[in-house]
Amino acid sequence: MTGDILTLNCGSSSVKFAVFDAAHPKAAARITGKIAGIGRAPVFTARDTEGPLETPGPLNELTTAHTHEDLIARLLDWLAQHHGDQPLLMVGHRVVHGGKSYTAPTRITQTVLSDLDALSPLAPLHQPHNLAAIRAVSARQPNLPQAACFDTAFHRTQDRTETLFALPRDLSDEGIIRYGFHGLSYAYIASVLPDHLGTSANGRVIVAHLGNGASMCAMRQRKSVATSMGFTALDGLVMGRRCGTLDPGVILYLMQSKGMTAAQVETLLYRKSGLLGVSGISNSMQDLEASNAPQAREAIDLFVARAARTLAGMIPAISGLDAVVFTAGIGENSAPVRAAICAQLDWLGLQLDPKANARGDVKISAQTSAVDVLVLPTNEEAVIASACRTLLAT
Ligand code: ADP
Repeated sequence: MTGDILTLNCGSSSVKFAVFDAAHPKAAARITGKIAGIGRAPVFTARDTEGPLETPGPLNELTTAHTHEDLIARLLDWLAQHHGDQPLLMVGHRVVHGGKSYTAPTRITQTVLSDLDALSPLAPLHQPHNLAAIRAVSARQPNLPQAACFDTAFHRTQDRTETLFALPRDLSDEGIIRYGFHGLSYAYIASVLPDHLGTSANGRVIVAHLGNGASMCAMRQRKSVATSMGFTALDGLVMGRRCGTLDPGVILYLMQSKGMTAAQVETLLYRKSGLLGVSGISNSMQDLEASNAPQAREAIDLFVARAARTLAGMIPAISGLDAVVFTAGIGENSAPVRAAICAQLDWLGLQLDPKANARGDVKISAQTSAVDVLVLPTNEEAVIASACRTLLAT
């Protein structure tokens, strides 16, 4: 199989991409890059295995007027002009919601695309951008095969009880259930766990994906048993801008007593809450850690307390705890947040090695700890590329 696989991960204001050699499953991405600040001041950066790349050509001089579609078309041109030594065999997309039907990576067809369109209201921040990327590639290169890789798919191993809300069963039957997200990240961590934990990798592990979006997944046999996100990516932990777990009565109150519309509530819960809402300063943990404002401290404290409570609450689902893994922007980079979460779990016999934590070692638990604690960088792109290799071979 001589050629490349392009992975695309489209968010509301960014497009992350990576180029993999289809013939070398173990090799890291040949090129990785990002267009950030879409809609404000787009900036394109890319690097190969040697370091940053010059980025002349179609991705220079971007403006606020450039849509995701324009930018992806330009990205395809840039890749063809500068890095097109091999043909592009497939584009693999991160797609946040696969609903009940899509439980594995799937080649894109018109039917698949319209099914996924119907799921957009369940992930309004992400799904429309994911699907726009698929359409942008089709418009530029109609014959190029594309695949969708779903953030929900990893959690389809859960028992029915874990997926149910305590709602009338006809609503569950129509699909109002807990789906769970960040599945590509969890699939990657599950794939590398044996390298770090040996046979304990198949034991009782909780992975904390702490980024702008944040969730946890409790695994046994490296499969999802429980997760903190639910029907949408709003539930669970405190996030950059999303509220996480909320008494549904608050939503009723906002609408009935304060007269807010559904659209206003959506904006409040998805964009104005979380670390940003509580601090009133920033959605970024790094900014809050650098601030002396008491509101910043309070937002971090709430983030930590909710994370510790959620982690502890998942332990019954896997009947104990052998290891905790921190990943994503905050999990990989913030030693203080990791330390504060672990301090609230010391009653489990979980002890950190403070120096290893400060250095960001892979293993940050003390020798005497009853629970291993690891820091592992996630790699959703590698999971998408691997799924594309499998689809190309079938
Ligand atoms: P996403 O992919 O969901 O947009 P990331 O996984 O990139 O998010 O995580 C972004 C979060 O990681 C932000 O809150 C950011 O401030 C935080 N972060 C990144 N680097 C650091 C750091 N060195 N210290 C603390 N927080 C960090």
